[in-house]
Parts: sequence; C-alpha cells; structure tokens
Amino acid sequence: MGEYTLRCAGCGNVLSYSATSCPLDGGLPRADYIEQRFNPRELPGIWSFIDWLPVESWNPNTGASSVTYRSSGLAGELGLGSLYISFSGYWPERGALMRTCSFKELEAAPTMQMLLERNAEDILVVASAGNTARAFAEVCSITGQPLVLFVPASSLDRLWTTVEPGRVLIAGVKGDYAEAIKLAGVLSSRKGFRPEGGARNIARRDGMGTVLLDHVRLFKSMPDHYFQAIGSGTGGIAVWEASMRIVDDGRFGERIPRLHLAQNTPCAPLYAMWLGIEERNFDSYRCPEGMHDDVLFNRNPPYAVPGGVRDALISSRGRIYGIDNARAASAQRLFESSEGIDILPAAGVAVAALVDAVESGFVESDDSILLNITGGGMKRLAEDHSRVRLKCDLMVGLEDSSDALSSIEEMVPA
Ligand SMILES: *Cc1c(COP(=O)(O)O)cnc(C)c1O
Repeated sequence: MGEYTLRCAGCGNVLSYSATSCPLDGGLPRADYIEQRFNPRELPGIWSFIDWLPVESWNPNTGASSVTYRSSGLAGELGLGSLYISFSGYWPERGALMRTCSFKELEAAPTMQMLLERNAEDILVVASAGNTARAFAEVCSITGQPLVLFVPASSLDRLWTTVEPGRVLIAGVKGDYAEAIKLAGVLSSRKGFRPEGGARNIARRDGMGTVLLDHVRLFKSMPDHYFQAIGSGTGGIAVWEASMRIVDDGRFGERIPRLHLAQNTPCAPLYAMWLGIEERNFDSYRCPEGMHDDVLFNRNPPYAVPGGVRDALISSRGRIYGIDNARAASAQRLFESSEGIDILPAAGVAVAALVDAVESGFVESDDSILLNITGGGMKRLAEDHSRVRLKCDLMVGLEDSSDALSSIEEMVPA
C-alpha cells in the first residue's frame, strides 16, 4: 500500500506528515513512495494505483478512474497517428463512471480516504465554484464523512449529487471565489476542521496523476506530449510527478512527457506569468465573467513555488497556451462531433490547445499525445441518473463571518 516519506519537492527536506509547506523554501510537499516499481494491482478504479497514493486502504464505493483510449475520430480530423484520450466523466459505453462528470473526483476520493486514515475526527473544509464542490459532496455523501463547502452565491445552482446527500453543509458566500477561499481559510484553521489544501494536498495531486499511470498501464510507455486545460495547474504538476515515478521504474522510457497546458484568455494568470507579464489587471476584464469556463480562473496559482507549475514546465520543456473563447468553443464542437460525447467547456480549452499545437508544429503527426478531457458526459448522465440539488444552509460574507462561522460546527448534519 502507499507507504511514503513526505519530502519537499524543492530541496528534498523530510517533512512531517501534516506539513503543508517546507519550512526551508516553502516548497510543495511530495510523497516519496517506498515502492519504486510500477505495479498496478487488481483493485477497482484508481485504487489499482494504491502503491502511489498516500493511503493504506481503499473504499470500494469511491474512486472511479479516468478511461484512456486511442482516438480515431479527433485523431483523423487532426491528422494525428497516435492520439490518446483520457476521459474523466460519465460515459458508461467506454467505462467512464464519474457521476459528477469531472476529474475532480480523482482528487476527492483519495483525499477523503487519507483524511479517514490520518485525521478521522476533522471536518474537511473546501472552497469551490463548481466541479470540486460536486466531487467532494458526492464522495462524502457516499463515505459518510462530514464536509463544509464554501460556494460563491452565483455558483450555488451547480451543486448536486446523484446519491442522497450526506453530512454536507453548504455555506453560500456573498462574494466571489476569492472570498470563498478566504472564508474557508478562516474556518479550516480552527480546531476540528481541516483545509483541503489545493495544490499542497498530495492526495489531490497523486489522484490526478493516475491519468498518466492509466496510460502507462495500457500502452506500456509514456506519451511524448500531455495536453490539459488548467486553472491552478495542479493537474499538470501531478502528471509531471507521476511521470518522474515512471522514469524511476526504468522500464517505460526516460523521457517525461512535454506538458502543454492551456488557459482561457484573457482570464489567464498562469499564461501571463509564463510569458513574463507582471501586470495582473484581470479585474479590468471582470474575470471570471464571460469565460468559456470559469472553473479555469484561479488568482493565486502555485507557479513559482518549488515543485510548482514553473518547475514542471521547465523540467518537461513544456509550454502554456492562451486560448480565447471562440477557439475553445469551436474545438469543443469538433471534439463532440468527432468523438461522440459531450464535454465540459474547460476540456474544450485543452482541445483548442491541441489544435493550435498541430497548426503551429509544436507536435508532429506521429508523436504520441495524451489529451486530458478533464470533464464530460453531463448530458449523457441525465439519461441514466437523476440529480439531487443541494440546498444552501446559510449565507456568509467576510464582514459578518465570525458569528456565522462559530455556529457552523453544530449545523453540520450528524
Ligand atoms: C479544475 C478543472 C480543471 C483545471 O484543473 P487544474 O487544477 O488547474 O489542474 C480543468 N478542467 C476541469 C473540468 C476542472 O474541473
């Protein structure tokens, strides 16, 4: 099972298991697993990669994995010989069974398992404007673990589960995602609560890293290129880390995949940082208003931190693409018509980056390419499952938060 030492991704300093940051350089904590061989087990979903997940045990009712297949439709449209698609979402015909329809489930399942094993008494606190909230609400409703979600008022209508809601408390936030993050930060620093951790959460990253592991399991090699739409860039960091573990195994090649990460312009802080544009005037565009998919907007992504997005790009000789709404929309249509499944708008941004890379010659037609479709199948889900809408339990704003937050603990359903 996933035994590991926790180390700083920057300087290698050994950290305590509860560390969220390296005291020496602020680097991301990273799990250094005892098992060095890639050895998928006969377990369901992502749990087959349990040796490289920070958990000792697994839950048979959670942990749906991404599905990887070789494309013919989109590959034909783009003239690519070895295009592989990693699909996270609901598409039972291909074996994809994530009922909240995004790869945030890859993160939620191992995070809740890790919490159960290490901090069983704590209540998890998560801030999200959409996909993360749904993934955690669904997984916690299945496992019975308590959860407090801070969700901007304008995103409350995106919250639902496909199972009977469990011990989930929804705090609607008078404000945007940045305010939801602040409120979650205040509550999670109190005794009895625990922050999800974002990019600093090793369970989140190693869960997302299973996208690459599934490809290696099936095709016995690493792809030359990896494409993904990013907001925080955590999925990109995760795939980079997983590829280094595969390199250490020694049997699947020595070259890590080149990361091709895509942001939705103009609300694209990581793209700006990568280009070296210091100016951060995203407010003048009223971001995330008007984005092709606002789940891709994150004001404080882990770019320059040791082990973060910049290190992943440099080490993999990668790049970031700026994709505008028009290109994202047309790429999304191209994917849906050529592959035959609906996808989330965020995934359309990744498809557009691939189209751009083909046109610009950043990839060759016979390179092997892994395209991460990070969410999809929402329309397909509606044919099979009904959804339970989650109601807002209380509204909080930054100004009136202290009273509201003190009463939250009693409000979490028993
Ligand atoms: C969160 C999300 C992303 C971006 O993920 P990162 O954390 O930036 O790697 C992409 N697509 C979908 C559907 C998402 O929910």
